[in-house]
Amino acid sequence: MTLDQIYHYLLWFLIGFSGLTFISSFFYTTPYGRFKKADEKFELPSLPGWLIMEFPCLVACLVTFFTTGGNSNALVPLVFLCIWQAHYVYRSIIFPLRMRDRGKKMPIGAVLFGIGFNSLNGFLNGYAFTHSGHLLNNDWLASPWFIIGAMIMIAGLSININSDNILRNLRAPGETGYKIPQGGFYRWISVPNYFGEIVEWIGLAMAACTPAALAFALFSIANLLPRALAHHKWYVKTFPDYPANRKAIIPFIL
Ligand code: NDP
Repeated sequence: MTLDQIYHYLLWFLIGFSGLTFISSFFYTTPYGRFKKADEKFELPSLPGWLIMEFPCLVACLVTFFTTGGNSNALVPLVFLCIWQAHYVYRSIIFPLRMRDRGKKMPIGAVLFGIGFNSLNGFLNGYAFTHSGHLLNNDWLASPWFIIGAMIMIAGLSININSDNILRNLRAPGETGYKIPQGGFYRWISVPNYFGEIVEWIGLAMAACTPAALAFALFSIANLLPRALAHHKWYVKTFPDYPANRKAIIPFIL
């Protein structure tokens, strides 16, 4: 089997898996964070858990980019590699170091799933960046797809990071409880970090126009939208004074 065939099989696998994830996530909420089971037996502290889980995305994309015989010297693929690596340096290193969840633990099952998914996703996107004919032409960077997609991506990333910062500031060092977040996109929705993440990957799918980036955006929606609804329900149930006009994940709509 050629690498190209493997890429296509894995791509279809991810698209099918996204459909399954979307349906199953309405019935089963992955047990980490506020949904972690009290009697979970196999756990890792949150900080190494996040680092181990997200780091494969950085490595898999980088290794695939430079070792699979693609166009790794071309400008446009290199721009996408930089965008990808910048996000995953934030997500796999800066984010877990900054969050105030010391003393908390993550189920090893969630970490193992994350390692598998991030390795697959890093491979698919690293491969697509270097093996897509339309990304060989430097004019792609001046195309409406790239410009509008990059603007959407930056907007999503800004919402995501701003929301992460608001969550971080809810806890004093050493605190572990939950409070009602205020400000930023929390004015309108309960889980703007997920909203920003989804917007960011829709932006990448537009900017790159590769099936791998589209598959990742679909997976992010499938994974995060049902979880956001569960978060919203949890907030409403937990805090009697929770703002009644706040939606779950799409401002004014859902
Ligand atoms: P959460 O919003 O559940 O938690 C983020 C951090 O904020 C945790 O440290 C959490 O603590 C803390 N926190 C959350 N709510 C409160 C609150 N009300 N009061 C005080 N502290 C709070 O996000 P996730 O952990 O699920 O995800 C983290 C990031 O990773 C997000 O930006 C998300 O978009 C991204 N992500 C992307 C995925 C994708 O498919 N692309 C998949 C999963 C995550 P605690 O751990 O104690 O709950």
